[in-house]
Amino acid sequence: MVRSPVGKVTPAPAAPSPLPARVILPGAVLGVMGGGQLGAMFAMAAKRMGYRVEVISDSEDCPSAHHADRVHVGAYDDTRKLEQIAQALDVLTFEFENVPVDAARAMQEVVPVRPDPLVLFTTQDRAREKAFLVEHGFGCAPHRVVRSQDELHAAVAALGLPAVLKTAAFGYDGKGQRKIEHSSAVDAAWEALGPEACVLEGWVDFDCEISVVAARGLDGATAVFEPSRNAHRHHILDVSSAPAGLPQAVCDTARDMASRILANLGVVGVACVEFFVTRDGRVLVNEIAPRPHNSGHLTIAACETSQFEQQVRAVCGLPLGSTQQLAPAAMANLLGDCWANGEPDWAAALAVPGVSLMLYGKSDPRPGRKMGHLTALAPTVEEAIANATKARGLARRDVDR
Ligand code: AMP
Repeated sequence: MVRSPVGKVTPAPAAPSPLPARVILPGAVLGVMGGGQLGAMFAMAAKRMGYRVEVISDSEDCPSAHHADRVHVGAYDDTRKLEQIAQALDVLTFEFENVPVDAARAMQEVVPVRPDPLVLFTTQDRAREKAFLVEHGFGCAPHRVVRSQDELHAAVAALGLPAVLKTAAFGYDGKGQRKIEHSSAVDAAWEALGPEACVLEGWVDFDCEISVVAARGLDGATAVFEPSRNAHRHHILDVSSAPAGLPQAVCDTARDMASRILANLGVVGVACVEFFVTRDGRVLVNEIAPRPHNSGHLTIAACETSQFEQQVRAVCGLPLGSTQQLAPAAMANLLGDCWANGEPDWAAALAVPGVSLMLYGKSDPRPGRKMGHLTALAPTVEEAIANATKARGLARRDVDR
């Protein structure tokens, strides 16, 4: 196994990269497809480093609009308009994976697109992503691709129950998923999610879920962050913390797999690999996001280089930064539910030691909508988790003071 200590950048492989090596320096114009909070935090990192940022979004009132130099509002598949926008950019990246691949390919005729649209193609479809994992020998949940009710019954017979049926495309935060506990529920699951292609996964009785954010540069060098341990509520990430509190061998395996997945996909940029850690210590890939990830937000406060600065460095062909973590950290998501008792009490939250606040500038706090996050740094990860969740409870006004 290739082990790289956290913080160190693994040098580029010896073979010369076929990619053009032009470094995109501060002052240049970076384009981002998508106007959400990931684009906003990318823009903050890029602006701080002296770049101009132009965002392409389907909505004018998007989090990135508060931070970018320019927002182009339009459809993500309006190829003609996108090609025009691309003329003014030095590089294009994206902050969500469901960018139409054809549009990304069209823009690639005009401007470097990083990661390559092929990475989007592989990761925006669970069936293709699983085929990639199997082909390259990365462990994942047992699964079958199903395209009809009969195929679903055959897959259930092969994998057993419980299992989880997932639409192959456009799933996130548990959307487009159905857990099937009994054979009597198979047809209802197909009615809910078919007839689009789906993937049936055997249920993984995991000990915990972790994720690894990693970056890969234009020269093939990689830099891998510490794994985060992730706790979900109602299928949405609730709290991420690092260090993950797992045996070193498990962390090393996850980091090594993430690094090799980025290399095998040919990513230039940042990606996150989510894993299940089984009770017997196996590390199985759940899914890959070819962009910075919610579980990596704690890198902003806790690491020498944040995942967003790392994305800027990678797509610009700059050297990757150190991923060294400076203190144990925990991040608690702030969903729209936190506004249920009125405007949250930010002063109370920020009185908790080591806590910082990031709000995404969204105006409508709908339940389940990611509005921001709190990060706590502390001497131990247990204290960081306790302080992040305490701060959130205080903000939500739902705990005794
Ligand atoms: P996903 O959208 O695929 O990341 O799934 C959302 C969440 O559902 C995961 O973070 C897990 O908590 C749970 N989950 C998904 N697939 C499985 C599986 N095969 N076995 C057990 N839990 C799963």
